[in-house]
Amino acid sequence: MSTPAKKTVTNARKKATAPPTYANYIQGAWVASKNGEVFANHNPADTRDIVGYFPHSTAEDIEAAVAAAAEAYPRWRLVPPPKRAEYIFRVGEILIRDKEAISHDMTREMGKVLKETRGDTQEAIDMAYFVAGEGRRLYGQTTTSELANKFAMTVRDAIGVCGLITPWNFPIAIPSWKILPAILCGNTVVIKPAEDTPLSVYRFVKAFEEAGLPPGVVNLVTGYGETAGAPLVTHPTIRLVSFTGSTQVGRIIATQAADKGKKCSLEMGGKNAIVVMDDANLELAVEGAVWGAFGTAGQRCTAASRLIVHKKVIKKFTQMLVERTQALRVGPGLDPASEVGPVVNQDQLERVLHYIDIGRTRDKAKLLCGGTRLTEGDLAHGYFIAPTVFGDVAPQAVIAQEEIFGPVTAIIPCQDFEDAITIANGVGYGLSASIYTSDINRAFQAMRDLETGICYVNAPTIGAEVHLPFGGVKGTGNGHREGGVQAFEIFSEWKTLYVDFSGRLQKAQITD
Ligand code: NAD
Repeated sequence: MSTPAKKTVTNARKKATAPPTYANYIQGAWVASKNGEVFANHNPADTRDIVGYFPHSTAEDIEAAVAAAAEAYPRWRLVPPPKRAEYIFRVGEILIRDKEAISHDMTREMGKVLKETRGDTQEAIDMAYFVAGEGRRLYGQTTTSELANKFAMTVRDAIGVCGLITPWNFPIAIPSWKILPAILCGNTVVIKPAEDTPLSVYRFVKAFEEAGLPPGVVNLVTGYGETAGAPLVTHPTIRLVSFTGSTQVGRIIATQAADKGKKCSLEMGGKNAIVVMDDANLELAVEGAVWGAFGTAGQRCTAASRLIVHKKVIKKFTQMLVERTQALRVGPGLDPASEVGPVVNQDQLERVLHYIDIGRTRDKAKLLCGGTRLTEGDLAHGYFIAPTVFGDVAPQAVIAQEEIFGPVTAIIPCQDFEDAITIANGVGYGLSASIYTSDINRAFQAMRDLETGICYVNAPTIGAEVHLPFGGVKGTGNGHREGGVQAFEIFSEWKTLYVDFSGRLQKAQITD
């Protein structure tokens, strides 16, 4: 669970340092939090750089935002979906125009390197075009009736006001996976972004404002989980909660939502494995492992934090991987030469270093490279950790079981294919997995037997595309999928319609 890593500051101190102060977006207007408090958003590559101040909102602000969304809902649900889609298409155009500036801000507030934040923004653009296209589909079904002169069909219906809670690692992509399908389906929303990335969501919401979206359809409230997120989850007007974040917080939210009878969709943690078989293209597998483990400094729900390697190739693979890892350039994400940026905040830094310590001491794994905080030169004021590889890790080791969410990966030896699948499936999560092999039969067996929502062959565990469903099994999710048309299953209800044109009373199932 993320704790408030960014301190609340008084208005007096805020003025002295002068970075911009941002506002919540409620009923189409930019407003301060009711208590007037703000929190500072720091650049994790250099914590002396304050990106901005954001409303430290509480239940009162949530109340106002939910009221705005509730007021907008009856009109918005009657806007035809192709018209709703036109706003979404315009949002996509605005994001394209502002892609560079948005990506720059995103790197500054959460650290990942610029080429990755460009990818994050691109994902929201892709999502906007995909969802906008669906405005002219949003298919239901027509079907037969058991009675003569009776017509039967299904349509998608809006749900109402949705509460959206998002994490910091994909600051605009994940909000886009939620806001866009939600409003296409005729819902109105209140989004509470992660406290580490309010600027990216502010910029996203600015695009809705510029696109002319009617007031109240999308509302933004910034703040911490306990003070702004929790009142959103429990608010009686909220009909659906869509959450992406840690499994620990997701379970709390699921319990609260169940207690109030709300629909709840959860996307949570992962402990993803790349399986490398003895017939794999090792160059390709190493390249995939480096990108899978250290992209976004390992802070991806789909990060490859386990590398399950066949005993016949483990020595060579390990040597190649360590060489490649040691050559990675760690540095500020805004420097085009950097390949791995900082972790997002002090809590994350401590958490990752703690797991590295567990790996060394409790798990007795072999530390092959990395394992330390980096503080030299440019890195002195940031949260940088050297990309870390552990070797000879037991499948049940803590670092092979728990989500670390940092630039740390564990090489686990396996005897054969069956052993690899058993190890891969032997964790509490089930988001993504991959296998490197040149044997087509093994590839298909792996696709069948890996217990995950997403599975790759000869590619790393990351690389999702917006028009396919995204999500996981076991501790990762609760049966929903974002992305693809499957997202509409979350954000709409099915309504079943019968039209009897016989002119008389007909009774289904009753024969006499
Ligand atoms: P987190 O669970 O700490 O926070 C996520 C969001 O929940 C934040 O907006 C936070 O403010 C809010 N929150 C915290 N406590 C709350 C409460 N009691 N009530 C309501 N809201 C609350 O997660 P994080 O540190 O922001 O993100 C990292 C986690 O997210 C990792 O576990 C990662 O695997 C997961 N994640 C999963 C996916 C996926 O699709 N499966 C994608 C990205 C990240």
